[in-house]
Amino acid sequence: MNIKILSRNSSLYSTRRLVEAAKKRDHHVEVIDPLKCDLIIEKKKPSIFYKGKILGETDAVIPRIGASITFYGTAVVRQFEMNGVFTTTSGQSLMRSRDKLRSLQILSRARLGLPKTIFTNYSKNVGEVIAHVGGAPLIIKLLEGTQGLGVVLAETQNAAESVIEAFNGLQARVIVQEFIKEAGGADIRALVVDGQVVGAMKRQGKEGEFRSNLHRGGTASIIELTDEEEAAAIKAAKAMGLGVAGVDMLQSARGPLILEVNSSPGLEGIEAATGEDIAKTIIRYIERHS
Ligand code: ADP
Ligand code: GLU
Repeated sequence: MNIKILSRNSSLYSTRRLVEAAKKRDHHVEVIDPLKCDLIIEKKKPSIFYKGKILGETDAVIPRIGASITFYGTAVVRQFEMNGVFTTTSGQSLMRSRDKLRSLQILSRARLGLPKTIFTNYSKNVGEVIAHVGGAPLIIKLLEGTQGLGVVLAETQNAAESVIEAFNGLQARVIVQEFIKEAGGADIRALVVDGQVVGAMKRQGKEGEFRSNLHRGGTASIIELTDEEEAAAIKAAKAMGLGVAGVDMLQSARGPLILEVNSSPGLEGIEAATGEDIAKTIIRYIERHS
């Protein structure tokens, strides 16, 4: 098969691993920088102009689109879709996954467990907003944040009010969320490929840190999911329409709560923690479907 990996940088761990896995299974594989693609749209076949020529026959694409290039990257993925090319992530699911609020709405409709969340149009009545999620301590998240930056734990009512007012004053969009204390500064990442959990790890924040992001100094270890956690991860990936998804969950007293669903989940942490060849699992998924 002709497989194209849409990635800005072929030296990134996940990109390298996917190239390696595709070659091992005798596929022709190429890394394409989505920002260097020109999309040609006309009556007949929509095509892609890349590095001086029209891109040739493609059987499948694996989008590895970073958050900062979501708009253009999605357009490139759609161009392939218009030509009937199989993609591990559709343009629509990619776009949805990058909007925290829209994702939560979709997950809520699928009746998945979620931390109670509120979103308002810069409400002046900050006290009421806080009351909706059960008062302090609570979590305030910038809608545009990634890697744990822009996630604040407000321990008291006063802190919560002043932080929300400060963000409102900056016209920064935030969601206010119930703080799940019993998660203990840890979360679970489940990697779902084609409707199955192919690896799971628990990430623990460093001492005194409520955020478990590896970028914030958290550490990862392999974990066996409960049946309920496994079912929630699969259902979340399905609700978001993602063939490949990194589902983040908190372990709470009322069961697993979905935090977010990543559409370009990194492979390094999960392959290291589980010892699984997840890149190969993704290539085999393509072989079954394209
Ligand atoms: P990002 O997308 O920036 O990583 P997250 O929403 O995943 O933001 O939050 C970062 C981390 O903060 C999570 O991995 C989790 O450990 C912690 N966290 C986020 N929301 C909550 C919450 N409502 N209750 C407890 N901990 C949370
Ligand atoms: N870069 C990935 C994404 O935006 C997240 C990395 C990870 O936590 O796996 O989907």
